[in-house]
Amino acid sequence: AKGRGPNNHVLFEPEMQAKVSRRAKLEGELRRAIDKGSIGAFYQPLVDLRSGDVCGFEALARWKNEDGEFVPPNVFIPLAEESGLITPLFQQLLREACEAARSWPEDMGLSFNLSPVQMEDRMLPTRVIGILDEVGFPPERLELEITENALVSDPDLAAHIMDSLSSRGVQIALDDFGTGYSNFSQLARFRFDKIKIDKSFVAACGTDERQEKVIQAMLGLSRSLHAKTTVEGIEDHRQLAHFVSQGCDLGQGYLLGRPMPAEDVVTYLSDRRQV
Ligand code: C2E
Ligand code: CA
Ligand code: CA
Ligand code: CA
Repeated sequence: AKGRGPNNHVLFEPEMQAKVSRRAKLEGELRRAIDKGSIGAFYQPLVDLRSGDVCGFEALARWKNEDGEFVPPNVFIPLAEESGLITPLFQQLLREACEAARSWPEDMGLSFNLSPVQMEDRMLPTRVIGILDEVGFPPERLELEITENALVSDPDLAAHIMDSLSSRGVQIALDDFGTGYSNFSQLARFRFDKIKIDKSFVAACGTDERQEKVIQAMLGLSRSLHAKTTVEGIEDHRQLAHFVSQGCDLGQGYLLGRPMPAEDVVTYLSDRRQV
């Protein structure tokens, strides 16, 4: 079948063919990478904006493909979701991240991203707790980050999964807040411990008054729901000062620390403690 482009031009068949076969090649490579366990994670520090202390790390998936190139998670995570590979990938990465985090100081938390499709998996709490038990990592130190979009397709099931994880002590963060379906009427049903303000809001802060008002409102909403707030994507001191003055709890971004391999975490922490 012929597709039509945005200007109603008939797309060239060869172009579509090439796109389909690129995707198929990447999916094959992804499958092999998961089989071999060669997808890993980098860890990015989360900093307490009051004390300046590092209080945890977010695991971010990293894949170097067979040509030695890094494929961004924004590419391979959706591919894993579509090809039914997200659960095996998740289990592998979570196990690895918990093993890494076990050797960090005891007050360090581990944050881990969930895909929206995983909120349709009834077995998710059992899988998570199974891995924590196996590795010997305390549930209280794990925080799962879910996006607003994860709450839309089956809100009852999503609420059930979140409650069941919470009851085991796992923390829940609402990720990319303000960028997805901000379904305020539904928001009250879900219990989360933290709200993460997406980096797209940060880039505009200090330059756009209306944007700042929106950020203030998000911080206020978060506070009134007794959730902590993290702001992501802090790249300079002006942005840092802004969110400190707004009373935001935690910060994350290149200024505070880039995502790093597990081997570098201990050095990063000891360097930081000396300053
Ligand atoms: P996210 O959860 O919103 O993660 C934050 C992203 O912002 C990361 O991109 C991080 O490297 C980047 N970042 C951190 N600080 C800064 C900064 O100061 N400036 C800028 N410009 N960017 C910053 P990354 O690692 O490419 O991940 C992209 C997205 O892929 C993540 O967005 C998350 O949605 C998804 N992802 C990553 N790892 C996993 C995973 O293990 N599972 C799932 N389901 N999704 C993942
Ligand atoms: Ca995240
Ligand atoms: Ca984000
Ligand atoms: Ca995200």
